[in-house]
Amino acid sequence: MVFHKYMLGGDRPKTMLKLLCVTAHPDDEAGAFGGTLLLYHDRGVETQVVCMTAGTAARNRGSSRSNEELAAMRRAEFAASCKLLNVSQYEVLDYPDGELDRTDYYRAVEDLTRRMRQIRPHVVLTFGPDGGLTGHVDHAMAGVFATLAFEWAGRPDRYPEQLEQGLTPHRAQKLYYLAADFVLPDRQIIAPATVTTRVEVGAERFEKKDEAFRQHTTQAPLFERVKKNLGQRGGGVEMYHLAVTRDPREAKHEADLFEGVVEE
Ligand SMILES: [Zn+2]
Repeated sequence: MVFHKYMLGGDRPKTMLKLLCVTAHPDDEAGAFGGTLLLYHDRGVETQVVCMTAGTAARNRGSSRSNEELAAMRRAEFAASCKLLNVSQYEVLDYPDGELDRTDYYRAVEDLTRRMRQIRPHVVLTFGPDGGLTGHVDHAMAGVFATLAFEWAGRPDRYPEQLEQGLTPHRAQKLYYLAADFVLPDRQIIAPATVTTRVEVGAERFEKKDEAFRQHTTQAPLFERVKKNLGQRGGGVEMYHLAVTRDPREAKHEADLFEGVVEE
């Protein structure tokens, strides 16, 4: 049982370590981060997902007849996927799908900074500016917004009105970008993030991740391709790039996103 490794012992009430994952579209939580979310839940970490858009720019639209119908369907699919992945809390924001590069960055970072200060995660996962495996510009932008929010949640001079409303600054300890030691042939990955961290999630969790992805029934035409690209190529491992840490240190190879993380 590795469960207790992440719990506080002693007389104090048990406080959970927290992992926050910031994504762009409903289905990213499963396709990109699903095995990792499952693994850390199994290790007693509280996992949360914030998704920037409801995915209404998708080519695959199921039976929906309007953006509103598609948004409602994709929000429901996201909820079903998060439940299968044992995610404690999950939320879809209302930023415009396909246009995160033209969205008001100040408001987007404000929204994520607020959530960092509310959720108070120890570790944050998101996409890097390469767009994480698919090269999707929305992925890149979600990662840029999350990176700024990671930094600014700890600074009292950023979004001070949140502090006046009762929130307090929060410094998360580690920020990771999705990474891989391969590129997909049909995608424009220009310069991928280096792999610093290989998380062994195992074949069983890869199956469950696939099952979570399949909750996104409007995206059914993608199922086989995603399984082939991500599930099989990864070989039971999800890879990340350790982008920044709260405490200065040299980069080293890791197998655990919570290595060196301290409870507080
Ligand atoms: Zn996506």
